[in-house]
Amino acid sequence: MSTPPPVAARIIDGKAVAAEVRAAVAARVAALPYRPGLVVILVGEDKASAVYVRSKDRAANEAGIGAATIRLPADTTEPALLVQIARLNADAAVDGILVQMPLPPGIRARAVIEAIDPDKDVDGFHPLNVGRLTNGQPRLVPCTPLGVMRLLAWAGIPLAGARAIVLGRSPIVGRPMASLLLAADATVTIAHSRTRDLAAECRRAEIVVAAMGRAEMVRGNWIAPGAAVIDVGINRLDDGRLVGDVAYAEAAAVAGAITPVPGGVGPMTIACLLENTVTAAEWRRGRG
Ligand code: NAP
Repeated sequence: MSTPPPVAARIIDGKAVAAEVRAAVAARVAALPYRPGLVVILVGEDKASAVYVRSKDRAANEAGIGAATIRLPADTTEPALLVQIARLNADAAVDGILVQMPLPPGIRARAVIEAIDPDKDVDGFHPLNVGRLTNGQPRLVPCTPLGVMRLLAWAGIPLAGARAIVLGRSPIVGRPMASLLLAADATVTIAHSRTRDLAAECRRAEIVVAAMGRAEMVRGNWIAPGAAVIDVGINRLDDGRLVGDVAYAEAAAVAGAITPVPGGVGPMTIACLLENTVTAAEWRRGRG
């Protein structure tokens, strides 16, 4: 008897979900008697950041959010940057402030993040917003893990009581991801570079969120049949190909649902930044 072909996982289409999130943001914006404002500060000439900032501007404008970019030279000092942030904090027309990382050497990211008004902190990195999330009372939360939550919801993955594993514990992805899953009543394991037998930990999970920055490290035999696999990783191989942290073809043959790279989590980040901007506006200025 021949082996039956593997059941293909449902592909979670990040582009489609991001379009839905952006449309929902546009509808919320249209109902407001003011135009929410997002300001991105870009220090220096980092090429990838410049491309990313342009996409943010375009997406914001399409959603009816007023977007501005402040470009500062690479030799900007930390005090000069803090002055800019203080000015935006005091500007009533500005609802969201985002300082694009990485910053040039000599500027402490921590000092910059802590200078942003927590009510305008659309990246969700300010310690007050981190604390709120950790306490199970999320307000403004980091965009990439928020995007993962939207993808899981779209795919209809039940979270309450589910065994979830987050591979990675960075402040921008892994930790907030684990807190969001916990707030949604999942039973969460956080794995990292010191975790023993990552494959075995992974096989126990019904939901796997991979955010390690390790090309195709998660193999098909790490995945429990039917599990939902969300791949946050973005890795450029020597041959130029872009791959995630999950060996996609292997995992897709076992998983119940899976995100591709690219076209999975990636498009969600900007969509959720826009969502955070309108959320920040509604919190601070009300709905009208
Ligand atoms: P990061 O700060 O480098 O953190 C990586 C995490 O993975 C760390 O906690 C590290 O553990 C863990 N890790 C590394 N190697 C491991 C291994 N061999 N086994 C187990 N754990 C391991 O990275 P990040 O900023 O969170 O980003 C993670 C990935 O997501 C990257 O590929 C990045 O490009 C991507 N990303 C994508 C988006 C998007 O929009 N789609 C947004 C942000 C990031 P330790 O803590 O023990 O060192």
